[in-house]
Amino acid sequence: AALSNQIAAGEVVERPASVVKELVENSIDAGASIISVYLEEAGISQIMVQDNGEGMDAEDLQLAFLPHATSKIYRLNDLFNVHSLGFRGEALASIGSVAKVRVESCQAGQDQANFVEIAGSKLMNQGQCAGNQGTKIEVKSLFYNTPARLKHLKTLQTELKHIIRFVQNMALAYPQIQFSLFNNQQKLFQTSGRGRLQESIAQIYQANLARQLIALNVADDDFKVSGFISPPTLTRTSRNYIHWFVNGRAVYSNQLNQVLIKAYGRQLMIGRYPISILVIDLDPRLVDANVHPTKQTVRLSKESELAKLIQDGVKACLGEVNP
Ligand code: ADP
Ligand code: MG
Repeated sequence: AALSNQIAAGEVVERPASVVKELVENSIDAGASIISVYLEEAGISQIMVQDNGEGMDAEDLQLAFLPHATSKIYRLNDLFNVHSLGFRGEALASIGSVAKVRVESCQAGQDQANFVEIAGSKLMNQGQCAGNQGTKIEVKSLFYNTPARLKHLKTLQTELKHIIRFVQNMALAYPQIQFSLFNNQQKLFQTSGRGRLQESIAQIYQANLARQLIALNVADDDFKVSGFISPPTLTRTSRNYIHWFVNGRAVYSNQLNQVLIKAYGRQLMIGRYPISILVIDLDPRLVDANVHPTKQTVRLSKESELAKLIQDGVKACLGEVNP
């Protein structure tokens, strides 16, 4: 099992950011309202994710590290109608095959937490300890037993950038959850989790930036698009400030970026990009989230209808500022 876990890990666990992604998605699936991510050296020496979600009991905890031990697929149909973020049941098994992992978890009503320690897919230790409701997962020495993958990693700075981008996206997608991100004991950002997108934008970027954004809200029969865009006078030299969310999931889409940029038209100077945080809600059957195991690219049906809706929305917003 250890080897097949490592092979699966190649798909799921490519870099520290992939570990953070799987752990944070599990915390969200567990219904957490507070999720804290602590890194040491951009996650290469340690990633710790703590949540206040529903937790696992002693038995769940051991099962969680077996491949395909997902608690999230109840019916075959669920594969096509993905409501929870994780649905393949191999993330923890994969992480446990390429790192040293300690998990503590406590359910409501339990007076002690249970813990397990896994290294290279082997159960090293288990028992009980003190703990509050929720789950705390510590991942140390990532890729310690797969030196080729360790060598493949980019600089700490690049790995950290990927993690920051991911946690920012999650904090923007879930303004009702309080997210904190630390690296080497330094707080990178913290959102308040009060459910207001503009407040989260202020906490992730700057209050002054968030204040200047324009609210966008448009809808037709299939799609609802809402969020904030910058006036053409507030732009950046990189696309990093463009965030898209489709049914709660952050997506990177060059196509959507082009739609947005085109809507700004000549108001945008060459080499400049708008800031935008746009949430697209649509019937889940129009999204194919099963295309790739990392679930980061999403194919959409009815693309041109959506493009037009976004462009009309953006133009209307910009027209109000700049008639
Ligand atoms: P999946 O998320 O696809 O089910 P994972 O390998 O990511 O698979 O997790 C395995 C199982 O472990 C989950 O189905 C869930 O029951 C449990 N689990 C993992 N992380 C948490 C957490 N933070 N809180 C509660 N349960 C968790
Ligand atoms: Mg998962």
